[in-house]
Amino acid sequence: MKKIKFFLMTLTASILMAACGTTSTVPITGRKHTLLVSDAEIMSLSNKQYGEIMKKSTLSTNTANTAMVKRVGKRLATAVETFLRNNGAANEIKNFAWEFNLVKSNEANAFCMPGGKIVVYEGLLPYTRNENALAIVLGHEIAHAVAKHSAEQMSKQIRQQYGTSILGSVLNSAVGSGVGDLASMVAQQGFSFANLKYSRDNESEADHIGLIFAAMAGYNPQEAIAFWQRMSSGKSNRSDFLSSHPSDTKRIAALKREMPEAMKYYRAVQSATGRSRR
Ligand SMILES: [Zn+2]
Repeated sequence: MKKIKFFLMTLTASILMAACGTTSTVPITGRKHTLLVSDAEIMSLSNKQYGEIMKKSTLSTNTANTAMVKRVGKRLATAVETFLRNNGAANEIKNFAWEFNLVKSNEANAFCMPGGKIVVYEGLLPYTRNENALAIVLGHEIAHAVAKHSAEQMSKQIRQQYGTSILGSVLNSAVGSGVGDLASMVAQQGFSFANLKYSRDNESEADHIGLIFAAMAGYNPQEAIAFWQRMSSGKSNRSDFLSSHPSDTKRIAALKREMPEAMKYYRAVQSATGRSRR
């Protein structure tokens, strides 16, 4: 009897832990968030969706532009990896397997799946125009992945959908894999990692972190302002990261406020590579 009681207590404790989630810290901003889904669950679900998207997509036949996307992406990835490693946060991206693709589409869009799978649509390039601005977009997308915004949105959906019944649901399902089951259920209900509608706060945070990531990789963060002005005046089909939140004016104002911080990283790279004295 005692043994059963002890077993039930341990079981309840582990379920409570799973249901309450784990607290994780976002690099750069230091914001703490509680995630109900693990990296492994997110990766397995998003990799499946990524495979399906790539099967339906046609890769760009423009070799110069394709090479540019891969070059800028790799340079950003290296800078981000180095930064996280130097700050004891290498674990944040230990499951990442970077991929950089340019696909045929007139949409001015780009996304980064959890785990560092980045897709850029050809229709974005007339707006980026140069590698600095492309780095701003890729930095933003990489920031969503590094800050685990997908896991945050999925956790939010699980809480909204299952709320207080979460413990009951977990108890009724297989021991230990309950929250994972909920993640799969949410994913099956049309949760799209590629077209995820992030919160306004997530978008602002990705802008901020992305600006710093671009600067760390040696791309001029000041290009962000001109890029967003071009996007703002464009009449393209704008989705995902180009969604209406935050407004372009607010976005540009926030980027201007964050610019001195980004410029510190940019100047550090410039002087380290001897490019400051021209
Ligand atoms: Zn975004």
